Amino acid sequence: MLHQPDTMKDPDTLVGVVLNGAHGIYDVHTDQGIIRCTLRGKLKKAFAASRSTKSNPYGPKIKTKREIDGSYSVHQRQQKNTPPQNSNETAAPIRLSIGDYVKIRPIDAQTGAIEEILPRRSALSRKDVGSTTNKQIEHTLLANLDQVVLVFATTHPNPHFGLLDRYLMICESAELQVLICLNKLDLPHESDVEDAAARYRKIGYRVMFTSTQTSVGIDELRTALQEHTSLFTGPSGVGKSSLVNEIEPGMAIRTGLVSDQTGKGKHTTTGSQLYPLSNGGWLADSAGIRALAAWNIPPEEMAQGFIEFRPFLGECEYSDCLHVDEEGCAIQQAVEEEKIDERRYNSYVRIVTEEER
Ligand code: GDP
Ligand code: ZN
Repeated sequence: MLHQPDTMKDPDTLVGVVLNGAHGIYDVHTDQGIIRCTLRGKLKKAFAASRSTKSNPYGPKIKTKREIDGSYSVHQRQQKNTPPQNSNETAAPIRLSIGDYVKIRPIDAQTGAIEEILPRRSALSRKDVGSTTNKQIEHTLLANLDQVVLVFATTHPNPHFGLLDRYLMICESAELQVLICLNKLDLPHESDVEDAAARYRKIGYRVMFTSTQTSVGIDELRTALQEHTSLFTGPSGVGKSSLVNEIEPGMAIRTGLVSDQTGKGKHTTTGSQLYPLSNGGWLADSAGIRALAAWNIPPEEMAQGFIEFRPFLGECEYSDCLHVDEEGCAIQQAVEEEKIDERRYNSYVRIVTEEER
């Protein structure tokens, strides 16, 4: 992953990826090992400003190029795990997140200073509320990811497909590949779970069934993570941590080593943590992630996040149609003709009308 582009080479600096961070201290994975870093220069100032005001701590909104081609392109966006080389692609963020590529200046073998955040290829953010101002702010869960694993349980807790649709919309909006994982297959569950899986497969999603008890699906999931940078997310209690432990049994131990290697003891991370996978690729756990909430997705773009709606978009009578109760709406007609599943459409209406309020 850490192939340093020639243009970034500087004998005194290293490029690495941020594994975790809290209180202005970050562990950065480099080809020289893990280096514990503080921030330098304007990054430090941005961090300090965000701490004192809790408002506008973020850089320019990251632009993504949306490809509206009417096809289910969700599985065609595979990207290589190398730092973005074209700096025109995205604006470099000001505020650091795990998964960010950074240029660091080592102080000794174990410590250093982060001098620059390299441009992001992608990011997944959620809406959060500032602790002092109550203002809505963006919280980046992971930068430079290319896959999100949405984990739900077949039962205990029962899957909430409306929530899955919301998560799918958020991932589509961030142009990320999605994998739906239905865990706890060993437990007796309602047959409608299989029916739902079939519906999601039909519209183009990859759906996997897993169990950490019987190990069914674990190898398949492990293979699907290889060479990707993935984030695990979903409701609590569905088995995300258990799955992570099954996939990469040494992960927790390795995290301990990370802390020891720096010789500075454990530093508690408040957010999630990114881990290198032994078969290649990176995985971020979802510690500290309560839920995904849409960040900055305008209502008129939400229908794009429902991939099976795409062939019908642009065919409504009104160009600003939100497909809720408008006349001459191609989406509503497709629902009537059973070309779009009504449950998915109802999820869409719930989300878009909620945002409108
Ligand atoms: P998380 O909150 O999503 O990280 O869920 P956890 O990994 O903490 O798991 C929640 C509970 O579900 C724990 O009691 C696990 O032992 C249990 N669990 C996890 N995976 C499975 C599974 O595949 N089958 C069964 N029966 N229980 C599981
Ligand atoms: Zn419409």
